[in-house]
Amino acid sequence: MKPGTLAACLLPLGGVLQGSAAAALQHQPALHQQSGTSCPHALATRVLESTSLVQASPQPGAPGYADRLATTPLGWPRLQHWCVWIEPTLPATRSGPAAADAVQRRWQLAVISALQSWKALVPVAVVADPEAAQVRIWRRLPPLARDGTGRPRASHGRALLRLVAVERHAGQWRLEPAVEVLIGPGQRAEALQATALHELGHAFGIWGHSDAPGDVMAPAPGPVPVLMPSERDRSTLRWLYAQPTAFGGRFVPPQASAQPADP
Ligand SMILES: [Zn+2]
Repeated sequence: MKPGTLAACLLPLGGVLQGSAAAALQHQPALHQQSGTSCPHALATRVLESTSLVQASPQPGAPGYADRLATTPLGWPRLQHWCVWIEPTLPATRSGPAAADAVQRRWQLAVISALQSWKALVPVAVVADPEAAQVRIWRRLPPLARDGTGRPRASHGRALLRLVAVERHAGQWRLEPAVEVLIGPGQRAEALQATALHELGHAFGIWGHSDAPGDVMAPAPGPVPVLMPSERDRSTLRWLYAQPTAFGGRFVPPQASAQPADP
């Protein structure tokens, strides 16, 4: 793992969810692809190496499972507006297996459906340019991780957080979370959607797990897929987004901070 990169969430393999939402997903409208000033391309990015998730101070009276969330030394890693890139499907080929195309489509529909659920709660724009995004969703199985005892543990999804300074307008640097979300394609549609929903919860700032199995952010999938954020998920998110943070604001990257200030 690279310095400054933080992983969350190991949804264990074997939690296969029953049923298929494929038919319903067929009717989900595609998220509008946006570009322009709200999601400008990154001119330069600097990873802040000395950052890590840290235990938050006690939050008396916080709703939901807000008292279980981790934060960063630079504040809560969330933005008021997110730009999200989804790995595109490869074009279908006449010679390629039709099954592979179906897997890609199922994956994309599940991811888009999960994103739609969060989009009702968090401002999100989907972009075609990965360098314009703070959250990038990849169609790939996460590499094996080690659990607390050192044993290898497989998962269908993972979210990796870096804290970065990004220059999106010449001379103007901004502090941003940068999240890579890995979602393996080899699950049924509802399990894929539940995995994507959970990992996107991390991506949008919920760096912790609920202690209630009916919540999207429970650490492991239960027998029934959770396909919508619960009231506890929602209240936790609302609380998080009401907290002050430096993310999204102007930021002087370390190299520039050593230079004399302008008179
Ligand atoms: Zn998780």
